[in-house]
This record gives sequence, C-alpha cells and structure tokens, in this order.
Amino acid sequence: MSSVSEIFGSYVFNNTVMREKLPKETYKALKKTINDGEPLDIHVANIVANAMKDWAIEKGATHFTHWFQPMTGITAEKHDSFISPTDDAHVIMEFSGKELIKGEPDASSFPSGGIRATFEARGYTAWDPTSYAFIKDGSLCIPTAFCSYSGEALDKKTPLLRSMELINAQSLRILRLFGDDISKKVVTTVGAEQEYFLVDKKYFDMREDLKLTGRTLFGAMPPKGQELDDHYFGTIKTRVSEYMKELDEELWKLGVFSKTKHNEVAPAQHELAPVFSTTNIATDHNQLTMEIMKKVAERHGLVCLLHEKPFDGVNGSGKHNNWSLSVKDGANLLDPGKRPYENKRFLLFLSAVIKAVDDYQDLLRISVASAGNDHRLGANEAPPAIMSIFLGDELTEILESIETGTDYEQKKKVKLEIGVDVLPNFSKDTTDRNRTSPFAFTGNKFEFRSLGSSFSIADPNIVLNTIVADALEQFANELEVAKDFDKAVDKLIKDTVKKHKRIIFNGNNYSDEWVKEAEARGLLNLKTSVDAIPHFTDKKNVELFTKHHIFNETELASRRDILMENYSKVINIEALTMLDMTMKDIIPAISEYTLVLANALTAKKNAVKGAAFKAEERLIESLSKLSDGCLEHAEKIENALYKAKDISDINENARFYLENVLSEMKLLRAAADTAETLTAEKYWPFPTYVKLLFGV
Ligand code: ADP
Ligand code: MG
Repeated sequence: MSSVSEIFGSYVFNNTVMREKLPKETYKALKKTINDGEPLDIHVANIVANAMKDWAIEKGATHFTHWFQPMTGITAEKHDSFISPTDDAHVIMEFSGKELIKGEPDASSFPSGGIRATFEARGYTAWDPTSYAFIKDGSLCIPTAFCSYSGEALDKKTPLLRSMELINAQSLRILRLFGDDISKKVVTTVGAEQEYFLVDKKYFDMREDLKLTGRTLFGAMPPKGQELDDHYFGTIKTRVSEYMKELDEELWKLGVFSKTKHNEVAPAQHELAPVFSTTNIATDHNQLTMEIMKKVAERHGLVCLLHEKPFDGVNGSGKHNNWSLSVKDGANLLDPGKRPYENKRFLLFLSAVIKAVDDYQDLLRISVASAGNDHRLGANEAPPAIMSIFLGDELTEILESIETGTDYEQKKKVKLEIGVDVLPNFSKDTTDRNRTSPFAFTGNKFEFRSLGSSFSIADPNIVLNTIVADALEQFANELEVAKDFDKAVDKLIKDTVKKHKRIIFNGNNYSDEWVKEAEARGLLNLKTSVDAIPHFTDKKNVELFTKHHIFNETELASRRDILMENYSKVINIEALTMLDMTMKDIIPAISEYTLVLANALTAKKNAVKGAAFKAEERLIESLSKLSDGCLEHAEKIENALYKAKDISDINENARFYLENVLSEMKLLRAAADTAETLTAEKYWPFPTYVKLLFGV
C-alpha cells in the first residue's frame, strides 16, 4: 500500500488538482465561484470539464454522472460514457461544460410528494461546485443539486445550501456588531459519527427479513447479548479489522476524513467517525461513507447493516451529528474559551442555539423521524423523543448567574488524581459527559444524537442551520438599533435564558422522572413519527421556512407527505415480509418438527407400553398452540393490510399502520420467537441471533 498521504484524495478533483490541471485564469474564475458563489461562465465551464475528463480518464474512468440526493434519503446517479462517435466509425472522449453544469435526468420515479406530475417529468441537476467531483467505480461523479422544471427543490442538497447561506448572512450581522472581521464566510461544520452492524453474508442471505427490510422481524434473544459490555471498545476481530482497513483506504481515496474506528455496545456493532468538515461536504461524505461501507463489506463476505434497529434486545444504531459554527478557516463561534463568563460573543451564539432548540423542538424531532428510528427513540438506548439541551454544570451555572444577576466565580480546572506516580497528571474537563441527552454541548460544539444510522444528515442540518439563523436574525434586529450595545447584549442573553431555560436539562434523559418533569415544563413529547410529522407544516414552521426561502409551502407539504407515506410503506413491506415468512417458513417448520416429535412419541409409546413421554408431549402441545397463534396474528395482519388500502388520508393511513399493523406484528413475532426457542435448530428455517450477532 502507498502511504496514506499519497492515496488521500487521489480520486478527488480537489484544489491541488485544479491548480495543477487548469489554466491560471480558469482556476481563478472557478475559485471565485466556489468561494463567493459567482456564476460560472460557460467558456470557463468548458475548460474545467475538459480538464476533469482528462484527469478522470487518466485514473481509468470511462463515464461521468451527476451525483445527487433525492428525497429517498440516498444518492442517485445515471452514468453516461464520455464516448462520442466520429465520422470514421471511431470514438473520441468528450465532456462539455454544459454536461458538467446541467443534467436532465427523467425524474418521474423519484418521490416528489405531488410537486411534479408525471407528465412534467423533467428534473434538472445542477453542479454544486462547493463539493469536489470524484471518481467512483470508473465514473466521474459530479455533486449536484436536483430541482423540478418549475424550480422547486426535489432533493436534500438545495435546501441545505440555502440554509448555509442563511446562517452565514445572519452570523455576519452579529459579528459585525462585535467589531469582528467579516471578510470571511461563516460556515456550519459537522462531524457525523456513523454506527453500523456487520453480519456474515451467508447468514444474511438466508434471512428474507434482512434482505427486504434491513432488520430482523423475527429472532429469539440469544443467551448472551450486550450485558457484559465486553464488546464496547473491545479488541477488533481480525476479519472486521481487515474490513475496516480497506474501508479507510477507500474512503481516504475519496477524500473522506475517516479518523476513528471502534467496536460499539452491541455485539457485531461498530462505529466510524470522521474529522469534521463544512456541512454540505460532511453530508456528501456521510452518504459516500454509507455506500462504501456496504460495498467493501461484500468483498469480505460480510453485509453492513445501516438500519436503526436490525436486532431486538440489543442496541440499535444511530448517528451523532456534531455541529458547530465557525468563521471559515477561523474561530469557532461556539468555543467558550478560557473565561466563558466574560465571552459575550460566545454567550450570545449559545443563547441563539438555546432559543432555537426550544422554539423548534418539533422540527428537530421531525428531522429524525422514521419508522426505523421509532424503535430507538425513547427505548432507553437512545435519547428520548423529548428534545432538551445538556450544557453541563459550568455553563448552566454561568447562565443562572446571568439570569439572577449574581456574581459568577470562575471554576478552576482541577487536576485529576489517579494515585499512581508514574502516570502523568492532567486537568479534568469542567463537565463530565452525558450520554443520554439528545442535544449535548460537548466543549465547542453541539452533538445532536437522535439521528438514525441510515439517515441523510441533510435534514437535521437544514433544520439546525435555519432555526439558529432565525434566532440570530432576531438578535441582530434588536442589537442593530440598540443605543448601548454592551448593555443590550447583556439584556438579550439574560432575557433569552429566562425565557428558554426549560429546554436545559443536565440529568438522566432515560428516566421516567424526566418524562414527567418535561411535561410539567411544557416540552413536547412527540413519541412516534406519526405524532411528529404532521407538525412539519404548523403555521410557525411554514412561516419560518418560507420567510427564509429554505422551503416554499409546496416544498414543505411535499416533504411532510413523503415522510408520512414512507412510514406507511415501510410498515407495509415489513408486514408483508412477516406474512411471507410465517406462511412459507415458520408454520411449515413447526409442523415438520412436531411431526418428528409425534412420530417419536408414537414409536416410544409402542416400545414402552404405559409410560408417559412428557418432553415430546409438552413440546407438541406448546408448539401447536404457538403455531395456531402465528396463524391467527398473521390473519389479523392480513385483514388490517386490506383495510389500510382504503384509507386515503395520508396521516390517518400512517396512524392505522402504527396502531393496527405494527402492534399486531409484535404479537406475531412474540409467538414465533417463543416457537423458535422450542424448536430443534436444524428445523428452524433461519439462522439464529447467535449466528447473526456472534458469527463473524
Ligand atoms: P465522541 O466522544 O462522541 O465519540 P469525539 O470527541 O470523538 O466524540 O468527536 C466526535 C466528532 O465531533 C468527530 O467527528 C469530530 O470531528 C467532531 N467535531 C469536533 N469538533 C467539531 C466542530 N467544531 N464542528 C463539528 N464537528 C466537530
Ligand atoms: Mg458521540
């Protein structure tokens, strides 16, 4: 293997390559577009496209594709080769500026939530020059935004870019008031920690549920789960380690800053964390990370599961969205510094986040809503569906003293006494960590922990950027007209803390007391996706998004409907898969095994007259009951699915799935799982949890 610095970014048309391959004037013009958002001239685009093509061909590429992020939550691509026929029946390799800048994929089969009728199937992709082009699988991939003929966003990138521009503008207004340098952009940065499971492909292939839905719909708990905590940060098994090495290499080639890897809490669960970058690049990179994780797994005879809850009884997978706000290549605006009490700029930005999270708890909750993630939120393994902020003792005390107007005594860093002389002494951080909070301040950034592992991080960051920008806008409006700036800042921080302190909670978010306390504080508890999603278009949310031109009303309504329909579709597929597995595999297997038991029983009775053979008798009886139970629940599910078809209202339909299908699926599973524990393994039709969780 070549050195890491040699392979890093070797498949990316990055700044170094641009400088090397482009004429000076072209390079300068392109940089202006990238840095200042100036429109790109078609002549410049032609030169860039040609250089990109030559570079890509040198690296073995034959095709190009616009790479975009439709509302499916994953990425989409349509590949065209560079070939262009010549008169003498040969080909030359061509790629024009027009092809670089704009694409026209037929968009009729992407979800649009009713924005685009199929007779207006046109969709456009437009190059996002702020994210570098790269080569993947022999294709030059051009990161693009995706919109409809009438200009509505059909993707997750367009609103994300809009929200980044918004927070830049509003942050600069605040910085100007503090007399700071405003010649540079303010950007939000994100580091997305990604959790995943690895299972052996030979077992995966034997499980219809994993193949069709990404999670096990059946499966009894193994005798051992995660209770010994022996997997977390444990030594990485050789096969997994080989996988992780290749994954790192592939990601590095694509310029993804893959940094940390370790085993997670559940058996077979792992995590990868990158070094943070600007939010739109972090979003692209997280999509690439998920894709490459799956691809590399195949080469190792493994399957990478990104579902939020692949297995019952052990932890599911999430994604931690570490978010901060920085001057580009400069100061982190959420860094408290050595003396946070005196750092007014920090306290003001902090107040904006506190206000934003309190005012828009619902939007944050919706940004992490999905059928898959409902299995985690509130299940005491992930933060609850109630949004709150963990600040830690020091910041909380500072805010309290501001609110009450009392003096604050700066905390000194305490030396950590380990009691062993040879170990170095180091200072303790002034706050401990809190793993249970959905939104935790962790030193110089906020960690939004409620995301599901399979999510695009675009939605939560669109919301975060927009709501914080909105708070900053209100602050700026007030401060810009203030007579005495210093006094006005103090008052603003104080008023904000007073009004929004209910959102701050430093205790255990998993406890039942918190649920009660949160209710007393008037915080929202939108338990399921079905409860949360309709609020997307509440008046205040429509006003927020339309005012800032992040979404217009049509875009917003379409996104709400896509989320809700998706919920129903997921449960529908899961229910159908369960029915299939029950009728084709589970009931026949139980029947086969009970027949074996019954034959044995008859034979034994003939051999030893008058004796009782309890083992066989009881097993036959129990298994027959369970098998009948499976059939009954399956029939109920089938009926419910018929009824669901007739409910045309999207919200009612989803609620019907939640209350009448999902609940029955749980009962069916319970019966089948009990049957599994009573059936000899060789008759059970699917690999057990022991094989799935401990089989790699
Ligand atoms: P954890 O203990 O939760 O695993 P780490 O300290 O390892 O957290 O960091 C988690 C992530 O936070 C990393 O991806 C890191 O790059 C990211 N991060 C650090 N600083 C920032 C920042 N200023 N903005 C965004 N993300 C950041
Ligand atoms: Mg974390």
